[in-house]
Amino acid sequence: MSDSTHHKLLIIGSGPAGWTASIYAARAQLDPVCYVGVPKQTPSIVLPGGQLMLTTEVENYPGFPDGVTGPEMMQKFQKQAERFGTKVVGEDILSCDFSKRPFTLKTSGGNTVTADAVIIATGATANWLGLDNEMRLATSGGGVSACAVCDGALPIFRDQPLALVGGGDTAMEEAIYLCKFASKVYIIHRRDELRASKAMQERFFAQKNGEVIWDTVVLDVLGDEKITGLKLKNVKTNEESELEIKGLFVAIGHTPATEFLKDSGLNYDKAGYIELEGATSYTNIEGVFAAGDVADAHYRQAITAAGMGCRAALDAERWLAAQGI
Ligand code: NAP
Repeated sequence: MSDSTHHKLLIIGSGPAGWTASIYAARAQLDPVCYVGVPKQTPSIVLPGGQLMLTTEVENYPGFPDGVTGPEMMQKFQKQAERFGTKVVGEDILSCDFSKRPFTLKTSGGNTVTADAVIIATGATANWLGLDNEMRLATSGGGVSACAVCDGALPIFRDQPLALVGGGDTAMEEAIYLCKFASKVYIIHRRDELRASKAMQERFFAQKNGEVIWDTVVLDVLGDEKITGLKLKNVKTNEESELEIKGLFVAIGHTPATEFLKDSGLNYDKAGYIELEGATSYTNIEGVFAAGDVADAHYRQAITAAGMGCRAALDAERWLAAQGI
């Protein structure tokens, strides 16, 4: 069924950036609509609510002194956005025509909607190895995570042997962080040299409890309710082995969720994240704003995404006012 609806402000994405933008825009009486998306597996699991829906305990978001689960936190964000009148639509935006205003967007429900301004807050998904047991234990709180800064300090990982896959700067940064809590941190890397900058490598090699397992890939993640180990393969010798660990962190890069924006005319940086003008949320297209991990390769935290969502709503509000809308 086709339907045409116009919105002053349309927000795409329902993580901390999208909900914060919705709260600010709704309170500013912009009658925002927030497209929260539909669950999918691509092969990463993507849920309305974003990366936090795959996080068990959030301990570093101010205002939750006893911690909060990621899904519960996103429910609270949504409730707050709806309290001020945000309209929530459980559909994906499939394509955007930003060539003329108002903008035209097509949805997964078969609808065509128009908007005077758009905030893109679709986030970035962590890349996973793509192993069945990896995803099972990541979604059940079984000790597999794609964010050491989010989860590494949890009690289940303290004084335990942990493994981290990856060889870039994120892998080094996260492994150094884990070395503070773990009895041992193994970096498992598929080659015999790291991609990370020399400075980051040196910081990791200075850790007393860090070690790299070179030329090695993970064949399987072992354990029923909690991870107990990894099945590994040395790619040079083809030798297989098992490594006993109590936590696995995957740090093999992120992919910003911009697939639906192809041919939209937006500018991206070298890593594929939406490029912003300075410290604002303005993109290169007037009336299109971006916030959160889709435009931030660097910090990628719930609190920084929420801050960017706030900026985007304020920028959109002022821009709409300047257009007399
Ligand atoms: P990245 O630089 O793309 O590194 C990804 C790493 O994961 C690579 O070592 C890659 O191995 C490995 N990898 C990819 N797919 C894999 C797979 N399927 N199985 C096993 N290993 C796999 O990503 P990043 O580390 O997240 O960094 C992203 C950007 O942010 C970079 O530009 C980085 O410099 C920057 N950054 C900077 C800092 C800092 O300066 N403090 C901190 C974090 C990130 P190969 O090397 O074999 O390809």
